Amino acid sequence: MDEIRELYQEVILDHNKNPHHFHTMDDADSRQEGFNPLCGDHYTFYLKFDGDRISEVSFEGSGCAISKASASMMCAQLAGKDRATADRLFELFTSIVTGKIDPLEHLEELGKLAAFAGVAEFPIRVKCATLPWHTMHGALHGENSSISTE
Ligand code: ZN
Repeated sequence: MDEIRELYQEVILDHNKNPHHFHTMDDADSRQEGFNPLCGDHYTFYLKFDGDRISEVSFEGSGCAISKASASMMCAQLAGKDRATADRLFELFTSIVTGKIDPLEHLEELGKLAAFAGVAEFPIRVKCATLPWHTMHGALHGENSSISTE
């Protein structure tokens, strides 16, 4: 797991400093707001579809380094994917950060998302890491109310 720990430090620092897909989207097909009251993370996610495919994804808002890095990596991973793949990654991601599955067994599918397995060691930060995913999942499935981790 040392590799995962190093990757974790690296991607969190990098994506927090230079978040990808960090902008609003005026013509989004779906948008969803998400809050993590425990930490103060607050983001809005935007999705645009081309048929079954997520053609564009972006986010705006503010929060801690973990939530921002998680949002940034999620957007980078989801751009161009179809809905089923997005749902699958949602399941995998929420399972690795809660320590339910071994990320090393799913490295191919997870790619750099595997780094977030490091979060499992810090239970208080799990909600920071999963907030973007729960919010995106809400946007993908047309939830009307905003998403809260509480
Ligand atoms: Zn946070």
